[in-house]
Amino acid sequence: MPRDIPTLLHDIFGFTRFRGVQEEVVGRVIAGRPTLAIMPTGAGKSLCYQLPAVALDGCCVVVSPLIALMHDQLRAAQAVGIRAASLTSVDADWRETQDRLRNGDLDLLYVAPERASGEGFRSLLRSAKIALFAIDEAHCVSEWGHDFRPDYRLLRPLLDEFPAVPRLALTATADAHTRADILVQLGIPEDGLIISGFNRPNIRYAVHPRDGLTRQLADLLVEEKGPGVVYAQTRAATEKLAETLGRAGRPVRAYHAGMDPAQRAANQAAFIASEDMVMVATVAFGMGIDKPDVRFVAHAGLPKSIEGYYQESGRGGRDGEPAVAHLFWGAEDFARARMRIAELEPARQQGERARIAALGALVETATCRRAILLRHFGENPPPTCGNCDNCLNPPASADATETARKYLSA
Ligand code: ADP
Ligand code: MG
Repeated sequence: MPRDIPTLLHDIFGFTRFRGVQEEVVGRVIAGRPTLAIMPTGAGKSLCYQLPAVALDGCCVVVSPLIALMHDQLRAAQAVGIRAASLTSVDADWRETQDRLRNGDLDLLYVAPERASGEGFRSLLRSAKIALFAIDEAHCVSEWGHDFRPDYRLLRPLLDEFPAVPRLALTATADAHTRADILVQLGIPEDGLIISGFNRPNIRYAVHPRDGLTRQLADLLVEEKGPGVVYAQTRAATEKLAETLGRAGRPVRAYHAGMDPAQRAANQAAFIASEDMVMVATVAFGMGIDKPDVRFVAHAGLPKSIEGYYQESGRGGRDGEPAVAHLFWGAEDFARARMRIAELEPARQQGERARIAALGALVETATCRRAILLRHFGENPPPTCGNCDNCLNPPASADATETARKYLSA
């Protein structure tokens, strides 16, 4: 690795050393090798393209799925002096950004996949020097992934038109199927796969059968100190729960994609600044929100997938201090999931059923939750972790969860 990389790491980002696989990923990118980096939430994926973006001659084009996410990252990059811009529907300074790109005056350019794949954008890139394509949240390219975005499929022709430009795909969430699919879809050879460990030892996992959810959550808000996120299943549930829980005295706000944007932004800003606020949100909340001191995350119902659960619960404890991930579930969650699956086109049903079965295994197990999670991501963890409900309080009988199994077998 060139000598000035550690200097950049320190002088621009303020970090004394790389974390985990960052060094390996940055090294590959600088060497021009196509790479898919699977790194857990909070591992520091942004640095893996932002640092090369500064080090390399030319602009790094970052494909990212959400405007809010892009703008958060943009502000953070600009704050440390990186020359960064975005081309989205809400940006007013398109001309200036295009000029800066052509003049070699940009390190980072954020775009959404539908924009990136368009002919206008391609011809713009032809008139500029491009150093790197970074595809963030790359699991969106795969139908196996939990968050398929058809527009991600259109990126391949763009990448292939610039074969000399290295490509870096990044995601926190990819099981073996999804991983293989991302490699194929984005044209990255198998030896370009870099996987970092998924264990988040400071997160304690706890799973509870639902039994009067509102009361359970109210109790939780008394028990758990510090900022927390409660994930509800629907937008309506978010607002209702926020209102009910807010009566207990602790600051509680709601967040979902259907809210008035100004209100939503205000709630997010209040949460980021707060030391004890609870955000009741749909899963729209969290992607790209950089709040290191979230002390607990609670799922008020079954998550969509293990990947989703891992990513959402992983928003706790990014500062490395202890955090708790609570999950409240009921047999109805599985019944509802089965109904939803029955309405899908047959080709997608099998994958979805596997996803639900994996969740069933997680919630009904009497053994280590962490081991189940880590095995799901292809790791080979020790059988007990000492920091989940089952390891801390081994259940008396392993078949207390027979009911759950019943709901899984359809
Ligand atoms: P991800 O996209 O993988 O979830 P981010 O790129 O948002 O993670 O980074 C998560 C946090 O880790 C950020 O606060 C970032 O500043 C911090 N971080 C990244 N790399 C390092 C490092 N080498 N040393 C210390 N902190 C780091
Ligand atoms: Mg990220």
